[in-house]
Amino acid sequence: ITVDLLKVVERAFDRLRTVAAKRSIHLELKNAPRVNVWADPDMLLQVFLNLLSNAIHYSSDGSQVTVTWDVLIDRVKVHVRDNGVGIPAESLNRVFERFYRVHKDRSRASGGTGLGLAIVKHIITALGGEVGVDSVEGEGSDFWFTLSRLNANMPRVL
Ligand code: ATP
Ligand code: MG
Repeated sequence: ITVDLLKVVERAFDRLRTVAAKRSIHLELKNAPRVNVWADPDMLLQVFLNLLSNAIHYSSDGSQVTVTWDVLIDRVKVHVRDNGVGIPAESLNRVFERFYRVHKDRSRASGGTGLGLAIVKHIITALGGEVGVDSVEGEGSDFWFTLSRLNANMPRVL
């Protein structure tokens, strides 16, 4: 079914607002035009909850987490950006693996299992999209994913 992307993000923000506020982290929505995407609303909510809770967890108090997206002809590319600890280059291609954790001490302290991003990848792949991350250690991370704007039954001729 088609889902209003903005509504899903607002639900995710509502769920995480208290956690973020405790650490004075500002959740921001920027450059986010109204658009419908092909997804299951609950699965998409799970994607945002996993990415946003990571962004909050791996950032320092008082920083900012930004959700933004670009509407392309046939798909939408969504970014969840933070100014947190970042990920070393040699780990970038492994963070979506099950049980892989870069920041082991932090993760253990909060009971992280290393499954959040594997679930994100699983869901987005099932919806026909792609996931990835750009990050600079010590500067922050940009987790992105794409979703189709088309009904799954429509031919993709563009
Ligand atoms: P959980 O299963 O509770 O989500 P987790 O957060 O450790 O545990 P993932 O969400 O899969 O597991 O993330 C895997 C690893 O990738 C994390 O342990 C962390 O080292 C790194 N990571 C994920 N998101 C970020 C981020 N926004 N900034 C820096 N590192 C991150
Ligand atoms: Mg996580």
